Amino acid sequence: MDALVTAVTAAGGLVVGDQLEIVVERLGAHVDLRRPWWACPSCQAPAGAAALVPVARVAVRRRGCRRCGAQAAHPLRPAVLALVSAVVMGGFAARLGADPVLPAFVVLAAALVAVSAVDLERMIIPNRILYPSAGAIAVLLLVGTVADGRWGSMARAAIAAVAAFVAFFVVHAVAPRGMGFGDVRLAGVVGLATGWLGLGHAFVAFLAAFVLGSVVGTVVMVVSGQGRRTRVPFGPFLAAGAVVAVVAGDPIVRALFHRGA
Ligand SMILES: [Zn+2]
Repeated sequence: MDALVTAVTAAGGLVVGDQLEIVVERLGAHVDLRRPWWACPSCQAPAGAAALVPVARVAVRRRGCRRCGAQAAHPLRPAVLALVSAVVMGGFAARLGADPVLPAFVVLAAALVAVSAVDLERMIIPNRILYPSAGAIAVLLLVGTVADGRWGSMARAAIAAVAAFVAFFVVHAVAPRGMGFGDVRLAGVVGLATGWLGLGHAFVAFLAAFVLGSVVGTVVMVVSGQGRRTRVPFGPFLAAGAVVAVVAGDPIVRALFHRGA
């Protein structure tokens, strides 16, 4: 049963992740989500039939628009988004199984992937992705909680969300250049979802985010040769931390807090 849930969720991740390109491209560039969804970003010519097929889409995007010749800015990105979404959603499903809160974590996965892609491209975390995702995750967590009365989990989710938001807000207030307000909001969402699994899981999410962020940030600083002026978006690390906490949180929390127990 759990294997089936994982397989179906991962397959859904492939389809959803591929379509996330529309959200990432349009909302990242502050353009409306109007039809036709797959259109040339320069001349708005609707894409041909081949561009609507997920894998063929990459080849079409590389060749460029048939009318004006403009190439998609990131021809490979739909395939990358599809693959990453499938792995993350499949990982969440493997951890949670047929749990009533799984839909909340599927939405979380899609939101983390989309927000990371926009942040990597534009150094911004768009509210137009984050707010609807946060609302959907909160409602779906509540529905999953009501399903079998795990109100302690819901309370921990709320506590972790508020604590993460406040902690990141303090960092943002002290160092606004290092930590944008988008990161503060995203931290609240990560706290909400990982906190539902346990306060230890939320702690693991932020610990992993800072460890990954410092390691990768240092490497980028050295490689780019720009030293401390290098700007590295933090959103993808918060997302990676959340994935670590959901998928591998149980053993890490045990190792950190229950040694010798
Ligand atoms: Zn065109």
